[in-house]
Amino acid sequence: MPFRRMKLRQFSMRILVALLVGGGLLLLGGVAITWQTVSEIEQDAESRLQRAQLMFDRTMSHARQAATNVAGMLDRPCADAAQLLREQVTTVPDVRSVSLATGHRVYCTSLYGEYDGPFNPDNYVDGQLQLLSGNAVTPDRPLIVLRQDTDKGSVLIGIDGYYLRNTLDISSKNSLIALVVGKKAMFGSGQVGEAPSPAEEGYIALSSASFPYQVATRVTEHDYLSYAWRHSVGSIILYPLLSLLVGLGTFWLMGRSHSPAEELKRALVAEEFIPYLQPVVAGDDEQWHGCEVLMRWQHPRQGMIPPDRFISLAEDSGLIVPMTSLLMAQVSTHFAPYVHQLPAGFHFGFNICASHCKDLSLVADCRDFINAFRKKPIQLVLELTERELIVADEVTDRLFAELRQLGVKIAIDDFGTGHSSLTYLQQFQIDALKIDQSFVGMIGTDALSSHIVENVIDLAIRLELQLVAEGVENQVQADYLRARHVDYLQGYLYGRPIPMKQFCKTLFG
Ligand code: C2E
Ligand code: CA
Ligand code: CA
Repeated sequence: MPFRRMKLRQFSMRILVALLVGGGLLLLGGVAITWQTVSEIEQDAESRLQRAQLMFDRTMSHARQAATNVAGMLDRPCADAAQLLREQVTTVPDVRSVSLATGHRVYCTSLYGEYDGPFNPDNYVDGQLQLLSGNAVTPDRPLIVLRQDTDKGSVLIGIDGYYLRNTLDISSKNSLIALVVGKKAMFGSGQVGEAPSPAEEGYIALSSASFPYQVATRVTEHDYLSYAWRHSVGSIILYPLLSLLVGLGTFWLMGRSHSPAEELKRALVAEEFIPYLQPVVAGDDEQWHGCEVLMRWQHPRQGMIPPDRFISLAEDSGLIVPMTSLLMAQVSTHFAPYVHQLPAGFHFGFNICASHCKDLSLVADCRDFINAFRKKPIQLVLELTERELIVADEVTDRLFAELRQLGVKIAIDDFGTGHSSLTYLQQFQIDALKIDQSFVGMIGTDALSSHIVENVIDLAIRLELQLVAEGVENQVQADYLRARHVDYLQGYLYGRPIPMKQFCKTLFG
């Protein structure tokens, strides 16, 4: 997989998992706060309704008591009953008036004694309770009338709205409570109006078991929000912060590596692999004619790591492919602006291995590299070590054909250390051989070693391939190789591998 696509995929994966973890926690927090708010606010509303109902029940029981006290007077004249009626008003708590009615007329009241006024039992919910915004004596003062029906007539007990309103005020804390009697309701403000509809959102009501009324309240969205803010402000601030931290932590943890291969992957994404360039000089004039690109790992803690400590792992894990892709991109980006200063046909040699030959992604990388130097073509060389021979198949055939079409040259690296046969060299249409430094090191030692070197060079010359000698460290070796017309020389004698910037400085002066 090309380096950039892999980097993007890994990055997207980290973002996705971090978002899932952080978002999940945030959602969990939201659900917990919502659940807590809803259950607490409903519990609070219910307990306030229960308290209010208890108080109303008590007030109405007092009224019922007063009614029972005077019920025996219903068949007596008002003159006899009036005194007992007044006694109820003064002795029984919450009672404002007591009246007696027969048929559809009120004939006796605690206030006036003998009286004649209309009475309609149909106005009473369940025949027992009526809520009024006022009566003839005090038109602006709401009251509840409790009716006790007997076979001789009805006792009507007026309960002062003041007590009821007080109870409503005490119980209405977070949300207003209303006393509902039939279709009418009394609110904490003392107003009597239409009863709230049970269909309204957040409507909660409690019916009394003893009297035909309900206490009701409505919890609005605003009540929930303000309750949540008042009671869970810590969690509301903490959860998003915690989610952000956990999300960031996940993102960071996923970026860390656990196994050596993951460490390589992390380093690849962090672009810690950088190229060092070693000059390759022409055998005839010893001028810089190209370079070999050698990988270095710029580790944030361990410093510069040489390739022999990580290349084999990178090859085994297949990561060498995107790593090489990164290296090629770095070199082309750095050198493209200097394209006109480069000597004509300047060589850039990259090391490749068997894993590069498994698919065609190398072709795309090579095309990009060559295209970066379109204005003044360079020579791209791929070095394939002889110790790791590749097996020809359909993919390799296509790969090498396409590389050839692009103008890429193939060199056998460490030549002499492996077993590449003539057929092998022809099959892959090799262009150059790099004589391994162990042979170059033998030059000028003893007669036997010199003989071996001579043979390797002769073999290469007979194969009519370009020749590069590696590991040239001294003048004796250089003279020897130049005398035998070796095309290119590479070694510490001409320059060690150095960073690109330094390389350009020396090359361009
Ligand atoms: P190589 O391809 O044979 O590269 C030449 C190695 O010999 C380099 O070591 C270079 O620094 C060293 N060398 C060059 N001139 C001399 C000299 O005069 N004397 C001595 N004693 N050594 C010299 P380096 O850079 O440590 O690379 C070691 C090996 O790591 C390379 O051997 C190559 O097989 C592998 N390697 C390096 N970079 C890459 C890469 O990008 N991809 C792959 N697949 N392998 C790489
Ligand atoms: Ca090499
Ligand atoms: Ca080599």
